[in-house]
Amino acid sequence: MRGSGRGVRWVRAGTAVVGTAALVLGVTAAPVEAGRPGRDLGRETLRAGDGWAALDTGTTGGAAADAAHVFVVRTWDEFRAALGGTAARGDTTPRIVYVEGRIDANTGPGGTVRTCSDYADPGYSLDAYLAAYDPAVWGTETRPSGPLEEARARSQATQNAQVRQFVGSNVTIVGRGPRAQLVGASLTVRGSTNVIIRNLRLSDAYDCFPGWDPGDGSGAWNSQYDNVWVVESTHVWVDHVTFDDGAHPPASLPERLGVKYEVHDGLLDITNNSDLVTVSYNRFVDHDKTMLIGSSNTRYTDRGTLRVTVHHNVFDGTTQRLPRVRFGQVHVYDNHYVLKDPDDFLYAWGVGVESQLYAESNVFTLGRKVPVGDLVYDWGGTMIQASDTWVAVGPRRPARVDVAAAYNATHEPDLATEVGWEPVLHGRIDPAPAIPALLARTAGAGRTG
Ligand code: CA
Ligand code: CA
Repeated sequence: MRGSGRGVRWVRAGTAVVGTAALVLGVTAAPVEAGRPGRDLGRETLRAGDGWAALDTGTTGGAAADAAHVFVVRTWDEFRAALGGTAARGDTTPRIVYVEGRIDANTGPGGTVRTCSDYADPGYSLDAYLAAYDPAVWGTETRPSGPLEEARARSQATQNAQVRQFVGSNVTIVGRGPRAQLVGASLTVRGSTNVIIRNLRLSDAYDCFPGWDPGDGSGAWNSQYDNVWVVESTHVWVDHVTFDDGAHPPASLPERLGVKYEVHDGLLDITNNSDLVTVSYNRFVDHDKTMLIGSSNTRYTDRGTLRVTVHHNVFDGTTQRLPRVRFGQVHVYDNHYVLKDPDDFLYAWGVGVESQLYAESNVFTLGRKVPVGDLVYDWGGTMIQASDTWVAVGPRRPARVDVAAAYNATHEPDLATEVGWEPVLHGRIDPAPAIPALLARTAGAGRTG
């Protein structure tokens, strides 16, 4: 696609990032996308009625961008410049950013690879950190503090400045062709409205400097980055994205201080008064904490927000938070959960404080039998409506189950089985037994049709 043959010309980006006058390819004519001839994913908008993001004004992303704000990017610096660089947060200029090929966020100008040791503060080493905060030495009562912890935090801040990119309002980020990928990036939609992210593979937002929290269960490593974090933002559509851990899948992570050294946070977290989000036709692959909606039990300002629709997604090899919900009215329908190894599975639907989770026509394909009631975990909520759920174990055909009744039969206190609202904004609800085959063809990056 590079060159002048299709009405493409080189332009200098309006904003250069961190010391580079990044050249960004500007596009003056609608580029032709994979799939139907003449189709331009960058100009497409959310269909009327397609989930919560369709409420009122709907979600159009960067569809109104003028020619000067349509970009095709091939490097991390170009990507950042196209979004407005360090000024992206708060920017409202309509933009379309086409991602071409594989872009690694841990690279500098000219493609220089940045490794964890490049970010490490002189005062930090993992060996010293492990020795200092080993529970046998530090105990389990207080969080790490002192010069080593401060050096870890400085190291983390350096990597954060490299891999976290804010996304402003009225933006569409879309992969060009079936193989567009961002590796190591944390896309942060903060304080924005009207954002579309489509047809991309987003992999491995790894943290070089996980922090030790001795008070989290029997101790836990906590990492910073979600592949996508929607925070304080409204009208967001995430569609046909493949989310995964790339080169650091869960099975590859070592144990440190006796527990898994987790280098990731969420794949797609939606928090802090975010509202009106539609999550459709994505694949969430091989990850632990997958989708958090609402991040605090006591953030009462979240009441009335966190309305999210989650439909036609595949959750494959994901451990928990599929999603985990606080406060929001969340509609979860026509998703396929593929949980091959029940030993790596905790729960699918997290019923958190004041959540109103409405699930229908979802399918679970389990490697072996999991008690149906264990598909739900009560994180302090009181209700879940779950109808037309189907479970297949091994090669057997799926059978319809009543998840809420099964939960209540084996847990106390019971959860109410009605949630006080009825989803209105949704497309066609496909029959659950057809969902696995349908989504095998249509969910994830490169399958926009
Ligand atoms: Ca998170
Ligand atoms: Ca009970």
